[in-house]
Amino acid sequence: MNHRNFGFGAPLADLCDVRFDNSFVRELPADPLLRNVPRPVRNACYTRVDPTPVANPRLLAWADPVGEMLGISRPDSANGPVAEALGGNRVLPGMQPYAARYGGHQFGHWAGQLGDGRAITLAEVVGADGRRFDLQLKGAGRTPYSRTADGRAVLRSSVREFMCSEAMHYLGVPTTRALSLVGTGETVVRDMFYDGNPQAEPGAVVCRVAPTFVRFGNFEIHAAHGERDLLKRLADYVIGTHFPELGEPSPAAYGRWFEEICRRTATLVAEWMRVGFVHGVMNTDNMSILGLTIDYGPYGWLEGYDPHWTPNTTDAEGRRYCYANQPGIAQWNLVRLANALAPLIQDTAIFERGLDVFGDTFELTSSRMLAGKLGVLALDREGDDTLLGELFELLQQVETDMTLFFRNLAALPVEGSDGTIGDSTLVEPVRCAFYDVAALAPAQLGRLAGWVRRYAARVRQDGVPRSERIASMNQANPKYVLRNYQAQLAIDALENGDASVLERMMTVLQRPYDEQPGHDDLAERRPEWARHRAGCSALSCSS
Ligand code: AMP
Ligand code: MG
Repeated sequence: MNHRNFGFGAPLADLCDVRFDNSFVRELPADPLLRNVPRPVRNACYTRVDPTPVANPRLLAWADPVGEMLGISRPDSANGPVAEALGGNRVLPGMQPYAARYGGHQFGHWAGQLGDGRAITLAEVVGADGRRFDLQLKGAGRTPYSRTADGRAVLRSSVREFMCSEAMHYLGVPTTRALSLVGTGETVVRDMFYDGNPQAEPGAVVCRVAPTFVRFGNFEIHAAHGERDLLKRLADYVIGTHFPELGEPSPAAYGRWFEEICRRTATLVAEWMRVGFVHGVMNTDNMSILGLTIDYGPYGWLEGYDPHWTPNTTDAEGRRYCYANQPGIAQWNLVRLANALAPLIQDTAIFERGLDVFGDTFELTSSRMLAGKLGVLALDREGDDTLLGELFELLQQVETDMTLFFRNLAALPVEGSDGTIGDSTLVEPVRCAFYDVAALAPAQLGRLAGWVRRYAARVRQDGVPRSERIASMNQANPKYVLRNYQAQLAIDALENGDASVLERMMTVLQRPYDEQPGHDDLAERRPEWARHRAGCSALSCSS
């Protein structure tokens, strides 16, 4: 994968020497008030606000590939001017920091004004090829959108965002990126379990990077307040800057834009399903207008395959945002966006077409994705639906690790399994995916072996050479994902001043589809100790 987008070998500049742009600030209306206290903001897309300095900013991690993408060099020192800028203590020349105004539907209900309560966009970096990226600090202090909260972020959630956004990128899932992780030298008080036991935890600031952090909620807030002019200006800015191929603003261009958002959102969710990612808080304020994974909070990875699983303890009851619900919720969120854009697009048929594009794209993409995971050319033969249905039933009959099962499917003796191989030997390659091998009763083993025989026969129908099939399956089924407990191990080490665990994982996660000798321990089932440990299996929204 080539991530050096700005010319091969182009010299990297120190962050302090970069020439920044601020098109969002320049082209869109600002809140006329600068008073940095929580308050309702009207008739504005953002409020100009500087980060609040922290006690002792210290660079804890840096993502070189993101630095290279931006043309920014890794700083020499952990506590020099770059750490100060990325910790929020120094606004560099040319930066015009702001907090964006947005609203959102949270857990199915309109929540009113939300906005960047702890995120502050510093500026935009424009690469040699014209691509534009926002540098945004998360955890940079209070803004007018902070409501009753403190504007800060704890180290554990910042590490999780830093690591996962990079891991997702290398998995090929559209996502925001992360450049740096800065420890603040301050503590942040959080009641992690919402049980009346607040604790002081180390604080941190992540510098996130994306072409834009505009969400569905940025449009919803203007629609909710009848600010049609702002709605149009924001839409025109987003289209002009990030969807220039759609042409000059017009009702037809708005229609093509909505369709494109639907297409990207469908692809995004299909990719999440492929790699077993559960976002955890798919509120409309957490839905990127570019179709990127955004706002890594109580996210998680399916370990045991359970469609109803959610990592988010706040959602444990209703499971609105569980794995299986993600496509339906994405569509529900697109309907909210359609409602917000209605003042710009009078013709409801345009929205219906967009939503059809969502459905069609999701269906097509997930069918291709499942075919890729199974190693068949397409899921279009008679009996394919039954084969799939049986597989998903099997995956749930005993606790089965989704990542390991699919990865090891490629190793099944597909070419010669007709009757000559006993059940036990036949399923050996996927045995490592079962959390409790002893729990695999003879009847279940028999069912699994029966499925494997039918599956093998199906694979043989395609006649693809074994090595070719395995190579392509290995591109669809990652070996390494950021397992929930592994992120926690990186956090534990970093809290003790040891960055080596995080650094090793970040390196391995850059090649998630490759075999990496010496790193097999990062591709194993979740150990039993992690089953009920906080942060390893379930997370609250407290971050
Ligand atoms: P989230 O659920 O993390 O996507 O956040 C929902 C809203 O709460 C957004 O407007 C955030 O900016 C805001 N928010 C979350 N945590 C904090 C915090 N510690 N301080 C201020 N605002 C926050
Ligand atoms: Mg959010």
